[in-house]
Amino acid sequence: MENDPSGTLDQEDPRGPAVDASTELQEFPGYTERMDPRPDHGEDSYTGHGRLAGRRAFITGGDSGIGRAVALAFAREGADVAIGYLPAEEEDGASCLELIRAEGRTALAVPGDLRDEAYSPSAVRQVVDGLGGLDILVNNAGFHIAQPDGLPAIDADQLRRTFETNVYGTIWLTQAALPHLGEGASIINTTSIQGYHPSTGLMDYAATKAALNNRTVSLAELLGERGIRVNAVAPGPIWTPLQPATTTSKKLETFGEDTPLGRMGQPAEVAGAFVYLASNDARYVSGEILGVTGGKPLA
Ligand code: NAD
Ligand code: MG
Repeated sequence: MENDPSGTLDQEDPRGPAVDASTELQEFPGYTERMDPRPDHGEDSYTGHGRLAGRRAFITGGDSGIGRAVALAFAREGADVAIGYLPAEEEDGASCLELIRAEGRTALAVPGDLRDEAYSPSAVRQVVDGLGGLDILVNNAGFHIAQPDGLPAIDADQLRRTFETNVYGTIWLTQAALPHLGEGASIINTTSIQGYHPSTGLMDYAATKAALNNRTVSLAELLGERGIRVNAVAPGPIWTPLQPATTTSKKLETFGEDTPLGRMGQPAEVAGAFVYLASNDARYVSGEILGVTGGKPLA
């Protein structure tokens, strides 16, 4: 996005630019370095306006993809940021920490596996000690494996891993964080359009995201009286390591083309929704699920 001499912003065509998604396939969890083209996390485009000055955020799955874009945007808005990721993702984690530090903010790594019940209390303790408190929890880590044949192809290991990461892990982490959240704090869950329009190839995953959408509403109801807001962002098809690590090349070739805007999105295009929901601009917004879908309706 470029400023023109009159000080106004260029009006951009949301249909482009189109990106060729023929990157090599990877094993889960998927790595940023191996993606061609590299996802855009807003490195050259996101401009902060001090909207989260002094806040302390914990973003799971913050090493890469949507989480990395949110971490960068939060740091540019003046927040200190801790990120969670799997130990295998040390390299992506380190790259993201560098981006946060380049903004002059405190960056903290809290690697570990959300499927392990002991991780959440320990992670929250590290964040509270390292950042001096916690104001924004972003439950963004997630897992899926596409099964083109649908339900009959989902084995017990996949089913467990999907639910343990997306449902159990987010409950455990939220439970651990709650005693530390004060008035004005905010919880934001990354859900998915899959929670509304499930694909036959992602039936287990879609059910976990529907559960997370549902919990966003009940938790907002529960925590309103404490002055804590709970919201979700439901992305459509976004170019992140999760995709080449969990789907087929055939699916990737046309990824996002069925949206009204005709293309997939970049992590950078999702981050602003998280900034909005975390900021005072959204002080009367809770229990909301904000779609960033390239035009596909959530309802
Ligand atoms: P990503 O691979 O960059 O991020 C997912 C992260 O989840 C990984 O980096 C990893 O650190 C973390 N993770 C996975 N299993 C974990 C575990 N057991 N313990 C700890 N961390 C774990 O991909 P992304 O697309 O940016 O994913 C972020 C979120 O966005 C996920 O919840 C995903 O379901 C959701 N989402 C993605 C898309 C998309 O098209 N990319 C669309 C809708 C929703
Ligand atoms: Mg990652």
